[in-house]
Amino acid sequence: MSTFAHPADEATRLASACFVIVGAGQAGGQAASTLREQGFRGRIVLLGGEEHRPYMRPPLSKQVLADGHELDRVYLRPLTYYADRSIELRTGCRVVSIDRPARLLRLACRSSPQPYDRLLLATGARPRLPTFFDAPHPQVHVLRTLDDALRLREQLRPGARLVVVGGGYVGLEVAAAAAQRGLAVTVLERAPRLLERVTTPEISAFFETEHRAHGVEVRCGAQVQGLSFADGRLQGVWVGSDVLPADLVLLGIGALPDDALAREARLECDDGIVVDEACRTSDPDIFAAGDCTRHPNALFGRRLRLESVQNAVDQATVAAMAMLGKATRYVRVPWFWSQQYGLKLQSAGLSEGCDEAIERGDHAAKRFARLYFRAGQLIGVDAINLPGEYLAARKAMAARGELPTAPAAPAAPAAPVASVASGAAPAPANPPAPATIAKP
Ligand SMILES: Cc1cc2nc3c(=O)[nH]c(=O)nc-3n(C[C@H](O)[C@H](O)[C@H](O)COP(=O)(O)OP(=O)(O)OC[C@H]3O[C@@H](n4cnc5c(N)ncnc54)[C@H](O)[C@@H]3O)c2cc1C
Repeated sequence: MSTFAHPADEATRLASACFVIVGAGQAGGQAASTLREQGFRGRIVLLGGEEHRPYMRPPLSKQVLADGHELDRVYLRPLTYYADRSIELRTGCRVVSIDRPARLLRLACRSSPQPYDRLLLATGARPRLPTFFDAPHPQVHVLRTLDDALRLREQLRPGARLVVVGGGYVGLEVAAAAAQRGLAVTVLERAPRLLERVTTPEISAFFETEHRAHGVEVRCGAQVQGLSFADGRLQGVWVGSDVLPADLVLLGIGALPDDALAREARLECDDGIVVDEACRTSDPDIFAAGDCTRHPNALFGRRLRLESVQNAVDQATVAAMAMLGKATRYVRVPWFWSQQYGLKLQSAGLSEGCDEAIERGDHAAKRFARLYFRAGQLIGVDAINLPGEYLAARKAMAARGELPTAPAAPAAPAAPVASVASGAAPAPANPPAPATIAKP
């Protein structure tokens, strides 16, 4: 039974309620802001397991690894932002369990538990580790946190040999940054092509060519068996019966949803915390947003688990509204970007299941877009250095039924998402004109 079961009492009770957010990352930081922007006057407690205030992860595999990047630019907000809005930000404060009947959180940082009226889980994801990796080592890296990025950056010295295990976006972005800093880089990918899980063969081939052109050795179909050490120092990476010499290794084989707290509290989970379109879990007073969720997407007719800033920001906005009892649904065209060697890839929708693709722009000039169709309907786009095509395609997909996340809220700080009303939602004052994407 929900704490705020009687609508007439809702406003008064909300003013004295305590909303707790677990995870001070992209989604947690956004949810705290949205709660205040939406007029919530109760307590907001934002608990983060890391020592940092909320920051953006995309720069960790891009700008942060380059020389001379100012670290302050990774943070979402200045520290004063939270104090000025009475958001009780507690960093270095890990939640170890949820006592749902008592509505209490047990914390690693203090003995007294934290009570909550409504709870948002924004716990993100953690790096997937290969079975052969059983203990941390200073020359073996993963990349999820700012501290991971700073440790890795320390070792990006010209001439050093870096082996990247995993040819996904994070691995490739690190490979690009390292190659540009003068390291000898090898990318080992088990699948027959780079980025196999996330994009089409043409985009994979494009990035493979770019990496090779910058001196990166790319080996697909490479099965890594383990790491080789001598006298406690990393020697290299076992591939087949050979050891590929390495001074440092990045393990970049993907991420797993951080749903341990939810599973232990017996919330429904299925490779992620299962939520509905309002980001509500199987407990009506507990919500979840971001990388840790598996959520329905009405535009694609199935549940998705996404790892992207767009998803974290938009779901957090919806979750905050739902925590306040405001009617809302998360219906969004997913979008994502990557940056390697000054090339900007922008993707929206999903290319999976496409039965026809067309290309626009100038491939040779590295300014092109691939549009993906299923049964004649646009379902996805990948654009390289062609933002206009990307935006038009995203808008066209959104026009099929995307809902505004927060009609009454001021604009969210992250990049805006084109929103149009569907039959199920009130029409916004100025609905954007539907873009036209016609197949030739
Ligand atoms: C290197 C890298 C590059 C990326 N590049 C891009 C990109 O270019 N474009 C893009 O769209 N996306 C990118 N992403 C993905 C994007 O950053 C994530 O999707 C986004 O950060 C998810 O936000 P989140 O709030 O769900 O999780 P996170 O930002 O991971 O935040 C979760 C927080 O919860 C904390 N936490 C977990 N458990 C607990 C607990 N029990 N108690 C307290 N705190 C806890 C964690 O420590 C973490 O700080 C990138 C990710 C990485 C790692």
